[in-house]
Amino acid sequence: MNAPARPPRRLESYVCGAWTPGQKEGQELLDAATGAPVAYIDSSGLDFAAVLDHGRKAAGPKLRAMSFHERAGMLKALGLALMERKEEFYPESFRTGATRPDGWIDIEGGIGTMLTFASKGRRELPNTRVLTDGDLEILSKDGSFSAQHILSPLQGVAVHINAFNFPVWGMLEKIAPTLLAGVPCVVKPASQTAYLTELVVRRIVETGILPEGALQLICGSVGDMLDHLTGQDAVTFTGSAWTGRKLKSHPAVVANSVRFTMEADSLNASILGPDAVAGSPEFDLFVKEVAREMTVKAGQKCTAIRRVIAPRAQVPALVEALRDRLGKTALGLPDAEGTRMGPLASFDQREEVRERIRDLQAVAEIVAGNPDEVRLASGDAGAGAFLNPVLLYADKPFAAQPVHEVEAFGPVSTVLPYDDLGEAIELAQMGKGSLVSSVFTDDKAVAEEVVLGVAPHHGRVLIGNRASAKTSTGHGSPLAGLVHGGPGRAGGGEEMGGIRGVKHYMQRTAVQGAPRLLSAVTGRWIEGAEEQHDVHPFRKSLAELKIGDQLITAKRTVTKEDVEHFAHFTGDTFYAHMDEASAKANPFFDDRVAHGYLIASFAAGLFVEPNPGPVLANYGVDNMRFLTPVYFGDTLQVRLTCKEINPRANAEHGEVRWDCQVTNQDGAVVAQYDVLTMVAKTWPLQG
Ligand code: NDP
Repeated sequence: MNAPARPPRRLESYVCGAWTPGQKEGQELLDAATGAPVAYIDSSGLDFAAVLDHGRKAAGPKLRAMSFHERAGMLKALGLALMERKEEFYPESFRTGATRPDGWIDIEGGIGTMLTFASKGRRELPNTRVLTDGDLEILSKDGSFSAQHILSPLQGVAVHINAFNFPVWGMLEKIAPTLLAGVPCVVKPASQTAYLTELVVRRIVETGILPEGALQLICGSVGDMLDHLTGQDAVTFTGSAWTGRKLKSHPAVVANSVRFTMEADSLNASILGPDAVAGSPEFDLFVKEVAREMTVKAGQKCTAIRRVIAPRAQVPALVEALRDRLGKTALGLPDAEGTRMGPLASFDQREEVRERIRDLQAVAEIVAGNPDEVRLASGDAGAGAFLNPVLLYADKPFAAQPVHEVEAFGPVSTVLPYDDLGEAIELAQMGKGSLVSSVFTDDKAVAEEVVLGVAPHHGRVLIGNRASAKTSTGHGSPLAGLVHGGPGRAGGGEEMGGIRGVKHYMQRTAVQGAPRLLSAVTGRWIEGAEEQHDVHPFRKSLAELKIGDQLITAKRTVTKEDVEHFAHFTGDTFYAHMDEASAKANPFFDDRVAHGYLIASFAAGLFVEPNPGPVLANYGVDNMRFLTPVYFGDTLQVRLTCKEINPRANAEHGEVRWDCQVTNQDGAVVAQYDVLTMVAKTWPLQG
């Protein structure tokens, strides 16, 4: 028995604030393992232009009015709400052919990705609505004209067209960075498994956490939606290269320079290092990884290892080990006890994979598994789209063109022998651009040569060895913090990568003008912007503090005794501070100099307000630079300016970044850095 049978559902789209069925009964979707009807899908009759408009008008302004931290808080609340409901999603996931571990990657992996974006948004982004990008560019001698790059959210919608293999993760990994950027989404899942996506979107809508219009769902075709795209919209596509190219060259996409991110076919390679001979830990890890990549999600993973590149001498042992391991993979009903691999998503998909195996057989021989015979541990071979893992071997890998071109999107890989490491790298490159590649080696020289050789052709490269065996996330796992995408035939796109992924939905603009006005735009103090001087800024709570609040401190002269005391007290008796002759011989100094950290310590001594007050803690410094040597007798003074204020949501404090500039008696800057503090929202503290 697969997931308990239930009457087939008629899927609905969630558009313009309402669940809306298509006008026709639509296409029948079947349980991948039992063939039982699961759902009907159709989107006929929808007004697709109105869907885009609803996102742009109803949700866009609301999302853009929120700060990054508010949007991050929204994602966190949504992720936690979905996690509470996760068990409801598994029965639907089983119907797609996914086992419980496969479903875990899709469901909990997807929710985890959303929560990671929430946490990165809170920790790595300021609590603003606009991002600054890079440093201030000073464009005039007197500092009256400068420029700052900023990133602001696109004012359109992001249309996410997804593949059938990850109906939950595929949606959540895309909408999390989009919503964090402040851009509404329209999700179009692949029809085959859309019933799971639809269920998750129903639960999302029910929470009421997202502003209306921030997430719309199309179950079925997107009709003429692409005709209505503008330059403020974005499209992401995951699926076949053929469809991807068709959509990327859609007239409206081309005419309006619509941002288009594509993630398509990928003939990912994994290389066994020459040092990783049979019996070594790396050889065993490699065997495990290849078998795992072939069987997880029945090999229907865009990152799965399709090409297994190994030293010729190791091939017999490798094939034997893989044959043995794959032979033990229990194929059966996704939710049955002991099942290690479920069916493919549909009979069509299985037919497609069998055809692609035939293409590969023109240049490679099958060395494990029979594509036409199904051995099941449970279930009915005639009812489900089952396929045993199939391993091929191509003795002449450079002449085996189909292996480098044909993606059999199932439990299928081909072993390719190499005679020297240069050949292994060249073979990996013959994939013409892939999502991920890996090398299993414990040899530093091999790791360096392979990574540098394949990196330009890949979005991610994993090095596997004994030291990371227990902690490695594996070849096939895209991670929220890492780039997912690849050049060339992999589509040329880039998703996730932490905050990088958020910026894909924002426009970078160089803003030029007077510092006072630039500062008003970014909400950040910059050199030349207005400053205020009243009470010591450390006496001000977050509610009172303003960008540009500034303190000019008293002065302090640095003496020889200070330097010697500091040297002996801390143990830092570096010669430039202690030995006159050696200091003078140093090309950077004319004499003994004060320690940089002594300057920073004196600076703190000059700018702190020692009494209990709203400044709660100093949690670090950023970008510290010592720019001019400080000699005995030099006099220091500090200018401390409130640069950025980030109130923390759901907390009684926030972070304040201070610009700290230390100058000498001639006005030369001797040290420059940002001081980072925690400041109470109100003072005295409540409760
Ligand atoms: P498709 O390219 O056919 O479909 C991908 C997505 O595009 C689906 O949501 C599909 O919707 C949609 N789509 C198809 N045609 C259009 C169109 N004209 N306008 C708008 N959207 C459209 O790929 P499949 O999912 O059918 O998979 C086919 C092959 O793609 C696999 O066998 C595999 O080789 C490859 N693939 C690669 C993946 C990767 O990440 N590298 C992931 C998944 C598949 P609908 O389902 O409603 O047709």
